[in-house]
Amino acid sequence: MQIGFIGLGIMGKPMAAHLVRGGHRLFLHSRSGVPQDLRDMGGQVCASPREVAQYASMIITMLPRTADVEQVLFGPEGVVQGIEDKEVSERQMVVDMSTVSPSETRKFAARINQLDCDYVDAPVSGGEVGAREATLTIMVGAEENVFRKVSPVLALMGKTITRIGGAGTGQICKAANQIVAALTIEGVAEALLFASKAGADPARVRDALMGGFAGSRILEVHGERMIRHAFSPGFRMELHQKDLDIVLAEAQTLGMSLPNTVATRGLFATGIADGSAMQDSSAIVQVLERMAGHTI
Ligand code: NAD
Repeated sequence: MQIGFIGLGIMGKPMAAHLVRGGHRLFLHSRSGVPQDLRDMGGQVCASPREVAQYASMIITMLPRTADVEQVLFGPEGVVQGIEDKEVSERQMVVDMSTVSPSETRKFAARINQLDCDYVDAPVSGGEVGAREATLTIMVGAEENVFRKVSPVLALMGKTITRIGGAGTGQICKAANQIVAALTIEGVAEALLFASKAGADPARVRDALMGGFAGSRILEVHGERMIRHAFSPGFRMELHQKDLDIVLAEAQTLGMSLPNTVATRGLFATGIADGSAMQDSSAIVQVLERMAGHTI
């Protein structure tokens, strides 16, 4: 299949490589340029999202924020212009794998559907490691028949692929995921900092907890980053804050309160103000360390 891939950063680059290895022909565009190894694998460089959509029957986006997706799809030289240029009558599909607003996603889907194209929201969890190893968890919002069409392509990038429901529900699921991830990262940071200030070796505490009810992937991966103070991303704190902003905007529309999400968002904001925007979100431990007057 001819597949377009727009947004070749930490996540998009290894994901696109899996599609080439899966035998697909790739049409690539990214604001930061197309990495050389993807070119060497045979990926074709396109000057704009419009050009990508002129060639590809499936167009995948993996971009930072809602505004980026909107610009790439509907802005000047955007995907929609390429869809309108295309002379072949083949039905095209847009698959957005970024983490963005569920409400805006529903609007994007309606606009793309009006062009007789399919729209799928398919955000992911599993981070850079999941992208590299093709073990991502993929949460899909799409009609059943569209899900069947997109599944073989998603299967090249992920392991657990679940259709949640119609348009926007993949993003709702991902927002829920980010509540669990952020609050767990914050909880692990508090626990390891507490243990360390109380005089216990945090590495041994982490090892011990891994075997019990407090064990989790986040205790394993992020806990280790906190103990080593190794905060190269990973998942940038500014993006994790962006995800909590998505959650809180939806919660406001729903008229509900998420008190611990608000508190954790505040700790991310403090970390970002202190210069941690580009560090992994596990660097939240440094904010708590300053509050505790103690460094792990
Ligand atoms: P990134 O910043 O590393 O990559 C984004 C890429 O998009 C960059 O290459 C950038 O040049 C490109 N881009 C941005 N705006 C563009 C535009 N207007 N036109 C063309 N290209 C543009 O980000 P990432 O870490 O790969 O994350 C991408 C998405 O995946 C985000 O929504 C993020 O929340 C989500 N996500 C990230 C992780 C992670 O661990 N990094 C995990 C799960 C989900």
